Amino acid sequence: MRLDKFICKHTPFSHQRSRWLIASGRVRVADRVVTDPRAWVDRFVAVWLDDEQLQGRTAHYLMLHKPPGYLSATEDPQHPTVLELLPEHLHPELHIGGRLDRSTSGLLILTNDGLWSRRLTEPKQKIPKVYRVTTLEPITPDTEARFAEGVYLAYEDLTTSPAQLQLLADREARLTIYEGRYHQVKRMFAQVGNRVTSLHRESMGEIALDAALAPGEYRALTEAEIASVS
Ligand code: URA
Repeated sequence: MRLDKFICKHTPFSHQRSRWLIASGRVRVADRVVTDPRAWVDRFVAVWLDDEQLQGRTAHYLMLHKPPGYLSATEDPQHPTVLELLPEHLHPELHIGGRLDRSTSGLLILTNDGLWSRRLTEPKQKIPKVYRVTTLEPITPDTEARFAEGVYLAYEDLTTSPAQLQLLADREARLTIYEGRYHQVKRMFAQVGNRVTSLHRESMGEIALDAALAPGEYRALTEAEIASVS
């Protein structure tokens, strides 16, 4: 947002008064006095008017190795939530970028940057999500072709985008999908007469679950991981 619009929006001052305050050198952006009203203000940068901070939240981008049994929710009266695995001071800030079912384990991303998480999860972005799947029945030879064609989901009245299945064993596979619909992997296997018994997310786009993280552990995303979602 432009600095003059930003000051106008975050203070009681008019647009004209905001421009005057900026020109008078009373506004600092990231520790520098900025006198150009057209200067651009990024979402998380610190902005001060005299000694009042108008913006300056820290952006948080975390990956969590979600264990089974935790809900992808911020609160729940019955079950533990993934937030309980993270420091308490971050709880009010974070939301989940791409939920996992309670029984699913693996990569879960949490952030307080809504624009960024929308880019990560919007189906039209077609970000690949890779899952390791174990099934009750042996995976039949036609499953790969069925998933590559797309599977019809009656509730949404749509066919899933072509997905890639790589067989690892009789009842084990790696599946790459490009959307994140409700129970999508389980419903795709149900459509071919099989049942998922365990599910683990390995990666979302270029962000892979860090092998050094034990279930329940988390770490901050690297600059490269954050920048890979654009
Ligand atoms: N698909 C599912 O069925 N469950 C998940 O948790 C994620 C994808």
